[in-house]
Amino acid sequence: MRKASIAVAETPVIVAIDGPSGTGKSSTSKAVAARMGLDFLDTGAQYRAMTWWMLTNGIDVHEPAAVAAAAVKPSIVSGTDPLAPTIAVDGTDVAGPIRGPEVTAAVSAVSAVPEVRTRITELQRSIAAAARRGIVVEGRDIGTTVLPGADVKIFLTASPEARAARRSAELVGTDGGTADVSATREALARRDAADAGRKASPMARADDAVEVDTTELTLEEVIDHVVSLVEERRRRQP
Ligand code: C5P
Repeated sequence: MRKASIAVAETPVIVAIDGPSGTGKSSTSKAVAARMGLDFLDTGAQYRAMTWWMLTNGIDVHEPAAVAAAAVKPSIVSGTDPLAPTIAVDGTDVAGPIRGPEVTAAVSAVSAVPEVRTRITELQRSIAAAARRGIVVEGRDIGTTVLPGADVKIFLTASPEARAARRSAELVGTDGGTADVSATREALARRDAADAGRKASPMARADDAVEVDTTELTLEEVIDHVVSLVEERRRRQP
């Protein structure tokens, strides 16, 4: 005899995780999504993909009008499985090249162009709207601009020393193993200043975001904390 089951539809939960790089944003977001059965979107990868396309097609990234005019051209597709996220531009897998030093050095200039942000923000909203169980979206302006109605908003921070040490450890192997901590710290500070100082949707903590300082926490502790915040929010759901 077949058992009857009643499916209780859960409202999708939207989790916005913002903050600068080196705070554990990506690792935390992926792990929280995987643990809770949610989709995952790395919005930095989309800005990097747009930047990769500009560089590959000879667009001067320090010429905002040229970047703005080209912003509609590339087709950017993000795969949202937290266990195997993907990023493709015009059908080409760019997961490797978008982490290279050329893209990292140019991405803040490209992402400051309003036409780029409008295009990518629309993409992000449509991906979030299509997530059946919900999604963890990581970036710089998710809680403030992209998804201001997110159910849970987190802003991750960490000391400059901790962030530089983490980024250097990640970079060994991707930039030929030459990741120097003080050079990384300076590069991060430059990128933060550009991302937080731009006119169009700067990196910012939303007023209703929970700030989590990860300096003294292990990754596991940060993940547990964020999962508990999402579960608490779910319990309060109407
Ligand atoms: O997170 P990641 O370091 O890969 O982001 C790369 C760059 O993409 C950031 O430095 C920022 O310029 C841009 N970005 C953004 N808005 C987001 C996510 C990333 O402007 N929501």
